Amino acid sequence: SKVPPIILNNGVEMPQLGYGVWQVPDDEAERAVVTALEAGYRSIDTAAIYGNEKGTGKAIATSGVPREEVFLTTKVWNADQGYDAALRAFDTSLTKLGTDYVDLYLIHWPLPSKDLYVETYKAFEKIHSDGRAKAIGVSNFLPEHLDRLIAETNVIPAVNQIELHPHLQQHAAREFHAEQGIATEAWSPLGQGKGLLEVPAIVAIAQKHGRTPAQIVLRWHIQLGNVVIPKSVTPSRIKENIEVFDFSLDDEDLAAISALNEDRRIGPDPATFDMS
Ligand code: NAD
Repeated sequence: SKVPPIILNNGVEMPQLGYGVWQVPDDEAERAVVTALEAGYRSIDTAAIYGNEKGTGKAIATSGVPREEVFLTTKVWNADQGYDAALRAFDTSLTKLGTDYVDLYLIHWPLPSKDLYVETYKAFEKIHSDGRAKAIGVSNFLPEHLDRLIAETNVIPAVNQIELHPHLQQHAAREFHAEQGIATEAWSPLGQGKGLLEVPAIVAIAQKHGRTPAQIVLRWHIQLGNVVIPKSVTPSRIKENIEVFDFSLDDEDLAAISALNEDRRIGPDPATFDMS
């Protein structure tokens, strides 16, 4: 494969770069995911709330890539937190995905106000011990949520998928994850495209290497050790975003990107987000 794996804390290998399908409608997801698989992606990130598990599963089934070569992630939505609800939601996701296991199952948001993430995670431990999720983890968890989860459950999350890009570098979270053996996965790794890819420092590094700004940002993540799941529905960009393993940023480039941190979120604050 084009993409090297990282080894999760339970020994499972996860490609360091995958394809995210948030905001891809179900009827477009099949074509988009097939395009990604043809471009060499072997990790797909979806979620129950994205409404495209069917299209995603269909793409994997029809792509000709064996199921066991694809690392498939989905997430339990907020409304389905709780032990029994999470078990039911997992069955629904598997049915839509048309598979009998996922590689990674994540709690999408902690929802501290609902106080159900420990119970939800206990259902995840059951799913994991049944072999229906090769790894389990969380998304949008702050260190305080992880502390509690680790104290009250048995399986240390393999992954925490958090908003992370040059304008929100998440130094404290990354350090905490490293201490606990949790892989840091970056969502919106390109800062959703918007202004980030026009920042002069990034454009200058792109020119220096004869690469695109998106490739520079993705390469920065890779050299930091983050897992990334960039999204695009444009075939040329889908291909471009995986071509980041044949060049390296130097220390000066890395320092220039590190200087762009503004601790600025695009998405919601996990401490207060409670939409269900
Ligand atoms: P992203 O940072 O991947 O940016 C995607 C956007 O950037 C595209 O829509 C496009 O406009 C632009 N883009 C992509 N490639 C480009 C290129 N090569 N050149 C120029 N522009 C380009 O943002 P995202 O979609 O928010 O995040 C990626 C994935 O992360 C999602 O698809 C989803 O799987 C996951 N995610 C998870 C959560 C969560 O709460 N766990 C939240 C948001 C996203």
